Amino acid sequence: MDAPRQRSLHQTAVEQFQRAADLIGVVEPTRSILTEPKNEVIVNFPVELDDGTWEMFTGYRIQHSNILGPFKGGIRFHPDVDLDEVKALAQWMTFKCALAGIPLGGAKGGVTIDPGNYSTAELQRVVRRFTHALGSNIGPEHDIPAPDVGTNSQMMDWLMDTYANICGPANRQMVKGVVTGKSLATGGSAGREAATGRGVLYALRYWCGETGERLDSLSVSVQGFGNVGSHFARLASEEGCRIQVVGDHTGTIGAEKGLDIEALSVWVAEHGGVAGFPDSDEMTTEELFSTPADVFVPAALENQLTGPRATGMDCRLIIEAANGPTTPEAEDVFADRGVEIVPDILANAGGVVVSYFEWLQNKSARYWSEEDVDERLRTILWDAHDAVVARRAELGCTRREAAYAVALDRLVEVYDRRGIFP
Ligand code: NAD
Repeated sequence: MDAPRQRSLHQTAVEQFQRAADLIGVVEPTRSILTEPKNEVIVNFPVELDDGTWEMFTGYRIQHSNILGPFKGGIRFHPDVDLDEVKALAQWMTFKCALAGIPLGGAKGGVTIDPGNYSTAELQRVVRRFTHALGSNIGPEHDIPAPDVGTNSQMMDWLMDTYANICGPANRQMVKGVVTGKSLATGGSAGREAATGRGVLYALRYWCGETGERLDSLSVSVQGFGNVGSHFARLASEEGCRIQVVGDHTGTIGAEKGLDIEALSVWVAEHGGVAGFPDSDEMTTEELFSTPADVFVPAALENQLTGPRATGMDCRLIIEAANGPTTPEAEDVFADRGVEIVPDILANAGGVVVSYFEWLQNKSARYWSEEDVDERLRTILWDAHDAVVARRAELGCTRREAAYAVALDRLVEVYDRRGIFP
């Protein structure tokens, strides 16, 4: 990605919640507690490669808050993973879970690695060795990872299997919930794979309900065609949206009449990216942003919507499927131009909500149907959108500030009631 990092991502994340904290008058020490993570675990571990050599890797697990429940958050495999990024992502998880009203805290993990450069066998050894290095820092009642950029259900299965083996035979059946986003075969939940993209679609539907727009009259551009971007694009196109431009790490493609998303998914599965997709025009990265569209959905990495890009964009709504895609400078540009933003902690909460369902199903060893999962997901997300809209009307603020305010209301109440030990 060619957009330079403008500032520390963690600093951006802190500024976002501090703005809402100012608005609703959150006092110390809650502000300071929420500014820094509770625990920062950094592990360095060796892995044997297929050619017999060893390579050292650095992995992170940042546990931001467990005031509302066990630490919860994904594990990212990407070359840019560093402490600053994981700290920001962990903090966003705390507010996301609080906003969704689920009894989970916030955490995030990652390994600095480009997974595309390693064989499946090597990746399995990285996952297992990382899990072993984390050891008792994770656990089904303590800290529960999930997939994120560069990781998938197969990796979560390996993580669970490694943890179960570390725990010993007597506990093996009780620890399935140490990780969510597993495959269905190993205790995953129906509907988890598509849950984040589905939640993004609900955000779009909610906005349509507010504005009177029709889904089948909207043009949409999407950055990222991985788990989140591809499921969102498929579901949105099934509802009649015209997905006109899609970009990923291999390139950007577009079709004025709308891309055939089903065919594109097959193409990406076979070719590893959107580049070269037939029946489409090749475009530049900057054209992804500058092509007029009703809705822009960033579903790749953070800091993609920069000030200069925002100035050149012609859209009415941004739904932050990715975490932290909008820089503070871009946010100001969008505010000046009246572009609405559905913030990440609301827009992409579908993943963690269904992860919560997976954890509940693992605890009870009873599994729910996909219809049941989707119904419960819709109820939780709709309530969160309603709460944000109501708080926004009270405070006269942006949707992001209102989302943080709702989350802070819930966090502050618990801190106030519990106090600080000892
Ligand atoms: P993924 O690894 O499945 O897909 C990432 C996508 O980003 C891919 O299409 C990749 O090509 C694209 N990408 C990577 N580098 C790029 C570049 N340089 N330029 C353009 N595109 C690039 O990851 P994902 O799980 O879909 O996650 C995407 C975003 O959604 C991340 O911000 C993640 O934190 C967030 N998110 C994911 C989940 C989840 O359940 N997976 C939940 C909440 C939020």
